[in-house]
Amino acid sequence: MTVLLTGGAGYIGSHMVHALVEAGERVVVIDNLSTGFSAFLPEGVPLFIGDAADENLVEGVITAHGVESIIHFAGSVVVPDSMRDPLAYYRNNTMTTRSLLNAAVKCGVGRFIFSSTAAVYGNPDQVPVSEHALTRPLSPYGSSKLMTEIMLHDVASAHGMNYVVLRYFNVAGADPLARIGLATVGATHLVKIAVEAATGQRAKIDVFGTDYPTPDGSCIRDFIHVSDLAQAHRAALSYLRGNGGSVTLNCGYGRGYSVLETIEAVRRVSGRTFAVQYAPRRPGDIMTMVADTSRIRTTLDWAPQYDDLETIVAHALAWEEKLFRERQDEMPHAASA
Ligand code: UDP
Repeated sequence: MTVLLTGGAGYIGSHMVHALVEAGERVVVIDNLSTGFSAFLPEGVPLFIGDAADENLVEGVITAHGVESIIHFAGSVVVPDSMRDPLAYYRNNTMTTRSLLNAAVKCGVGRFIFSSTAAVYGNPDQVPVSEHALTRPLSPYGSSKLMTEIMLHDVASAHGMNYVVLRYFNVAGADPLARIGLATVGATHLVKIAVEAATGQRAKIDVFGTDYPTPDGSCIRDFIHVSDLAQAHRAALSYLRGNGGSVTLNCGYGRGYSVLETIEAVRRVSGRTFAVQYAPRRPGDIMTMVADTSRIRTTLDWAPQYDDLETIVAHALAWEEKLFRERQDEMPHAASA
């Protein structure tokens, strides 16, 4: 009864590995370490450094470890990058999943949990957005994930696999014990950028678009704490093990905060001020994205613990401070250079 996590050394995947290990599960990780860190894995967790698209590797790991479920985190996640280099996103997200599914089908793996995104909706007609809403992605990132959802649906129907697609809203925060968090250099996500500014690592933060028809003119997002997201995956795994049928679920809290409100929360929690600069809209951005959470709450046995923006920010900040200290300690000192 082993669970295979692709991308298990990354930001969300590593929180999931910790949650599963703490629950006494057997896990194995495949990660190419492009954005992940082997140090994020708890001791004793087998890590295979390689690509989730490498079918020989995946089949070998499934067979050797008796894998019964796959949780597929590996992929690329930055909307603006996907606008610049769409083919990279169709390769890393869509094509990689095709290879992974091929290996899973060949080896008879019956359960699959897939990390999708609210970006599949594009600008929704109604907010909060439900899973029934039309999918009209505005970015290759959203399209690459939507194509994968469609493929997974077809593969599961043909081969007797059951899946849960989790459409993540805006994942933020860090492990409440600050053991792990978002450490990717050059990360672009709002809370990360804001805590970097609060810790003095950036001079300012840009607000991309202040002329949207929202109350304060900036975009609105539904932030979910990464540890709650990990617990949602655990609940999805229990659901599938209990013979739950394939389902697609929004994964957010159902409450929106504007970009300006989020930055203000970082200022308040950190007690530090930093410059905020109004900038043009960012191509591919959705204006308002808030989850209708009724389906996940009725389908899964999931009770979020950190449904509070200030808590999310506090954990992100504690992690960022630790990371900043560690990176400074690693840097060669001028005197010894
Ligand atoms: N954003 C911003 N400044 C930044 C980073 C992000 O104004 O430095 C905005 C971005 O334009 C979007 C929202 O914050 O409206 C969330 O962006 P993020 O990249 O965190 O997540 P996304 O919703 O694109 O997945």
